[in-house]
Amino acid sequence: MEFIENLKKKFGEKCSTEREVLKVYWRDYWPLAIMNESLGKKVRYPIAVIWPENTEEVLEVVKLANKYGFKIVPYGGGSGVTGAALGADSVVIDLRRMNKIISLNKEDLTVTVESGIYLKELEEKLNKEGYTLRHIPQSYPEAVIGGLISTFSIGQYSTKYGGIEDIVLNMEVVTPYGEVTWLRKNTVPRSAAGPDLKMLFIGGEGQFGIVTKAVLKIYPLPKYIWMNTYVFEDFIEANFAVRQLLKTGAIPAVIRIYDREDSNVRFNIDGNVMLIIVENNNEKLHNATIEVVSDTLASSGGEEIGDKYVEKWMENRFDIISEITKFLIPMNMWFDTIETVATWSNLGKLYKAFKKEVAEIEGVLPVLAHSSHFYLNGACIYFTMIYEKNEKVYWNMWEKAMEVILDNGGSISHHHGIGRLKGKWIKDEILGGYDIINRIKSALDTRNIIGSGGWI
Ligand SMILES: Cc1cc2nc3c(=O)[nH]c(=O)nc-3n(C[C@H](O)[C@H](O)[C@H](O)COP(=O)(O)OP(=O)(O)OC[C@H]3O[C@@H](n4cnc5c(N)ncnc54)[C@H](O)[C@@H]3O)c2cc1C
Repeated sequence: MEFIENLKKKFGEKCSTEREVLKVYWRDYWPLAIMNESLGKKVRYPIAVIWPENTEEVLEVVKLANKYGFKIVPYGGGSGVTGAALGADSVVIDLRRMNKIISLNKEDLTVTVESGIYLKELEEKLNKEGYTLRHIPQSYPEAVIGGLISTFSIGQYSTKYGGIEDIVLNMEVVTPYGEVTWLRKNTVPRSAAGPDLKMLFIGGEGQFGIVTKAVLKIYPLPKYIWMNTYVFEDFIEANFAVRQLLKTGAIPAVIRIYDREDSNVRFNIDGNVMLIIVENNNEKLHNATIEVVSDTLASSGGEEIGDKYVEKWMENRFDIISEITKFLIPMNMWFDTIETVATWSNLGKLYKAFKKEVAEIEGVLPVLAHSSHFYLNGACIYFTMIYEKNEKVYWNMWEKAMEVILDNGGSISHHHGIGRLKGKWIKDEILGGYDIINRIKSALDTRNIIGSGGWI
């Protein structure tokens, strides 16, 4: 193929078509892809992988893709769970050699990075300087900044610090039509100079261009940290206790509530376990927050049981997959998760309908649930579904899950994005917005060269 020859000529050792290499890049962490691979099903590999070392090299690939009409798929840490980075028959652009911290601005509290830097590496370097991004998803050791931006990610400390959309202030992108631009000349805390174009790339899954650099917000490391655990009789009442709390203005950094089944599996406790972490830089504010949190949760029916369960969670919080697969594989079962979000008025009915109706699908075991991100207006519930290792069961389960969520006031995605997994249902959620997105995509990417193409 002429374009492969051209890529090899231009990129030398920074380009590979070796089967053993392509094998690594054919999938992300989409459970269906992993399941099918483990069942020995035939899979389609990318045709080449490129490791660019700077923005100019990314631009070079985009230009060649336009010239020869081949598909390119940006690849970060490959930890996405929806198949958004699947590079079948495409040229994968692995951005992880673009991993520099360009500048740390302690006066403005910003850090400018190349998009291929691992989150963990960035966070550890910031910590050494006394700062933190406080964006700590469960995929912390594996995800890179470009992937986190492109999937609209959120971390465990979100109740205080927000999601990736609250952290990214500016970015440099390579457009599908082959230009490089920063989205704003000057990095500013907020701007009304036109619509916020960052939002085309946050959750864009690489469909609208490749993020090559980003300016991110940082915080001083917290000096005061308090942890505690409460047990509630009822899962939804525990969620409503958080609503009470948020109304007071006392905001913990981490709040997680596990329902009875999930609490049983994780903590061996019969009840609905709530883990809380409060952190601050000011002692008076810290003590006041603890007092309001303790009073509100106690008066809402929470029984305090100390911090050892938070410590247990802290120890294992990045390692759920190996924990779960350890006992699933021998049972010939597999698992997937869905993170939905709803307003308070819909949360209870959504939770109950999901637990009942999804578990009724043949081949699916009882569903576990926990709430992990909270807002003044509602919360995110994360369901863990365990099922027979069979593709038909898998899709029956997802059909039901999507139907229940859309019929009960939820969103089909709170932070995993859409990818190949949820493409079928995006139109049911965003209505006429789907047509707007498609028209933008067609205008920017006339040859349809970029992105894995799950849903646009
Ligand atoms: C165990 C586990 C736990 C997880 N926990 C969380 C969690 O707590 N919170 C959360 O939000 N998510 C979580 N995820 C999902 C996933 O890790 C995140 O969505 C993460 O943001 C993906 O980052 P990545 O670098 O691995 O991206 P990849 O999987 O490599 O790519 C994701 C998408 O982004 C695109 N992309 C990658 N880089 C760029 C770029 N530079 N420019 C444009 N497009 C690009 C890809 O084409 C793809 O569409 C978890 C996943 C796993 C496996």
